[in-house]
Amino acid sequence: MAKVSFRNVWKKYGDMPAVKDLNIECPDGSFLSILGPSGCGKSSTMRMVAGLEHITAGDILFDEQRINDLAPKDRDVAMVFENYALYPHKSVYENMANPLKLRGQDASRIKERVTAAAKLLEISQLLERRPQELSGGQKQRVAIGRAIVREPKLFLFDEPIAHLDAKLRAHMRGEIKHLQRSLGTTMIYVTHDQLEAMSMADTIAVMHEGELQQLGSPREVYNNPVNAWVAGFVGEPAMNFVDCNVDQRGEKTAFVHPNFNIAVTDEQARILSAQSKQKTVRMGIRPDALAISLDQPAGEHLKGQIYVTELLGGDMIVDVELAGERIRVKTAPEFEGEEGQTCYMTANRDKWHAFSKETGQAFF
Ligand code: ADP
Ligand code: MG
Repeated sequence: MAKVSFRNVWKKYGDMPAVKDLNIECPDGSFLSILGPSGCGKSSTMRMVAGLEHITAGDILFDEQRINDLAPKDRDVAMVFENYALYPHKSVYENMANPLKLRGQDASRIKERVTAAAKLLEISQLLERRPQELSGGQKQRVAIGRAIVREPKLFLFDEPIAHLDAKLRAHMRGEIKHLQRSLGTTMIYVTHDQLEAMSMADTIAVMHEGELQQLGSPREVYNNPVNAWVAGFVGEPAMNFVDCNVDQRGEKTAFVHPNFNIAVTDEQARILSAQSKQKTVRMGIRPDALAISLDQPAGEHLKGQIYVTELLGGDMIVDVELAGERIRVKTAPEFEGEEGQTCYMTANRDKWHAFSKETGQAFF
């Protein structure tokens, strides 16, 4: 087990930076997820940790020991990729035993470890099969088994379940999280799927275009995104954004838009007056923070027209038009609004976010 530190780490391919000045501390035994869209530098980061890619600048440390110049085999990390790279002609047992054989471990010890890992992953009955006789999920378990028999210092999982079907992915999320908790081995887990990161990680590192945007617990990243990009990337359906003016309304500061006029809290007003020179901000609200109704509420509200409704099993998503812009509201399936009807939305004031229109930085 190891603490992993990234200190001002850069990766460049020619002149093109793929990872820019990355700084992350991943505590011993914790589960770090690197989250971001395709091409943001996740795999490059993992490959530098594994020793498969040269570190252009900066340092990577395991327990405060710089590992930049260590050969991959001396780093004691085990990696699982999306394509599990199993040997097609070897049995499941031989695939899992291979890393231990290569290290010259004796046969009885190998058997003990493979048997224990197979039991943990519930693949004991598959040990004699060959990879082509396995389903995608089973193959992925074998790949994970091959990683855990080594009892490495660190797991590096790079989109290991991205290609599995939705149901199996949901199952494997729980399995991998449980496995990491029970082994206590430090895990760096790469994914482009915010739901995976949110549901599994202790800490999420959100990356965009090679840069770390935010490092925090799933709750922090969801509730207090540092900028509009993170706010829009984390959460499904995505956060709604509406540009509006910040105006004084008597004593109060309010978000003003053709379809609403909503006073902010005193604390929010203080932040806006201190930080924003602009009169226009990008207001953000999550679909599940809005309550929707066909009856006009007495208090402050947003007014819109229902564009379309989508029933998603236990939830309904309502798309609402606000003066040419579209927002989404998550509500109960009993909601009876129809396309074209006028509707009203309310939200707790502490659920509003505001971002700079210029830089995207969060005011709150
Ligand atoms: P991710 O895993 O987040 O999809 P990658 O780390 O694979 O992102 O890639 C980050 C950027 O670096 C991309 O623009 C990609 O095209 C580029 N890149 C990755 N590997 C190489 C390589 N071997 N040579 C040149 N460019 C690369
Ligand atoms: Mg990748």
